[in-house]
Amino acid sequence: MPKKGMLIVLSGPSGAGKGTLCNLLLQRRPELALSVSVTTRPPRPGEVHGVNYFFTDRENFEQMIRKGEFLEWARVYNNYYGTPRKFVEEQLEAGKDVILEIDIQGAKQVKENCPDAVFIFILPPDIEELKNRIKKRGSETEESFNLRIKSAEEELKAITNYDYAVVNDDLKAAVEKLESIIIAERCRVLRNMDLIQFKAPGGD
Ligand code: 5GP
Repeated sequence: MPKKGMLIVLSGPSGAGKGTLCNLLLQRRPELALSVSVTTRPPRPGEVHGVNYFFTDRENFEQMIRKGEFLEWARVYNNYYGTPRKFVEEQLEAGKDVILEIDIQGAKQVKENCPDAVFIFILPPDIEELKNRIKKRGSETEESFNLRIKSAEEELKAITNYDYAVVNDDLKAAVEKLESIIIAERCRVLRNMDLIQFKAPGGD
């Protein structure tokens, strides 16, 4: 039976640098597939439909929920975000490892449905750096900025549901840690049962 791919979930507060880390990781590991989420949030300057997100309206998003088109979905910072089920299932079936960059509510749903996924939490070095990074992005309103900072505290409490914590203080070091986690996870015995072939002595 062909080996199935592994699901890798990355979460962390807004401003932790998940997006940048994901891009660097994909450059180093082009065999990974990145799931592009659907969102009702308006695009930020420079964001491209189908690359950063599939941007849609609330009505269409709710229809997609009803049709069971999401592997998981959640309301985050007053907008809806969801992972298209079809893309992820096709990639896993083809033996590709898939990255989901999703919030803690979505990660909880994935854990319930796919317990053998790998859960990685990305942390900013400290709260001041987190504030600086969101401000530097320059795309959030004051209300959205405050909501993101307030939520960070709640999100940090969920870290115990994750398998790994990676502090993003130095981009190169952080991406190396992500890569190491993925390499190690691929070597887990339970993911490699296809390598084990028992043969009775003398049998053919
Ligand atoms: P942003 O608006 O900054 O792009 O994303 C806001 C939050 O939504 C981030 O924590 C991000 O990880 C999360 N997010 C993005 N896509 C998804 C998704 O498909 N599902 C869930 N549950 N969260 C998502």
